[in-house]
Amino acid sequence: MTNISFEFFPTQTESGTEKLLKVRDRLAQENPEFISVTYGAGGSTRDRTRAIVKAVQESGVAAAPHLSCVGDSKADLREILLDYKEMGIKRIVTLRGDLPSGTGMANSELRYANELVEFIRQETGDHFTLEVAAYPEMHPQADNFENDLKNFERKVKAGADSAITQYFFNADSYFHFVERVQAMGIQIPIIPGIMPITNYSKLARFSDACGAEIPRWIRKQLEAYGDDQASIMKFGEEVVSDLSRKLLEQGAPGIHFYTMNQAEASLAIWNNIK
Ligand code: FAD
Repeated sequence: MTNISFEFFPTQTESGTEKLLKVRDRLAQENPEFISVTYGAGGSTRDRTRAIVKAVQESGVAAAPHLSCVGDSKADLREILLDYKEMGIKRIVTLRGDLPSGTGMANSELRYANELVEFIRQETGDHFTLEVAAYPEMHPQADNFENDLKNFERKVKAGADSAITQYFFNADSYFHFVERVQAMGIQIPIIPGIMPITNYSKLARFSDACGAEIPRWIRKQLEAYGDDQASIMKFGEEVVSDLSRKLLEQGAPGIHFYTMNQAEASLAIWNNIK
């Protein structure tokens, strides 16, 4: 059976939370391994992340809070970890985070995700399963692919159990990344992060920011649809279902959906491939 997991981000309003609880209940029926909840670097969503983490747990699905190190002190991080431990959380998505531009690193005692992995292991031993981020198309700030691989290795050596990738639309970039890290002796599962395509302008903006490439043929087709939302959804579903099917058929150990707090698009893909 294929393992799937989903990602939520913390809501800002009561009505947003109500909608998300419905999405949670629908996705829970698919028996995901976990639902993760993003964290605003520097603690900007600390309470809101916790609230959604709690709501996920209440549905009986394991919740995996994201936690990033830039902008938070060790004392802040320690407090969050102990709180999660008391709540019965067993898995954390461990990140460096991106501070909003103009925000200083003043509070930061840990600068990279490998340092946060090490810190969590020091503080809580093996209590948490630790997921880290992987970038098949290279992290946008990395000097080059080789150095990025070495930095990925640091996270694994520090004690990461598994990795979730940034989204991508080119299956070969994933297989190339997996091949390269396996050649370095790294054996942890690397779960592809899958982004459903539902809105071209949002996707283009996100992709520019995180360094994910939208292949020309996909970009051109989406541009051609203009405001025809139904065609964008249909084409997006086909493209991302084909990608996900190929990944699983060729050995990817599972799928992590970036749901954008919506059930339909992820479920449509999942129903096509499961
Ligand atoms: P790192 O692994 O620390 O890498 C960051 C950069 O520094 C890379 O270029 C790397 O090559 C380099 N580097 C790493 N270690 C070292 C070192 N020791 N010395 C020198 N250079 C080094 N962001 C959020 O703010 N909140 C979230 O909830 C969130 N969730 C995410 C979930 C996933 C699955 C992914 C893929 C990303 C997520 N992000 C989130 C975005 C992430 O925080 C950014 O991509 C960030 O820029 C890097 O985080 P990282 O953990 O990969 O950092």
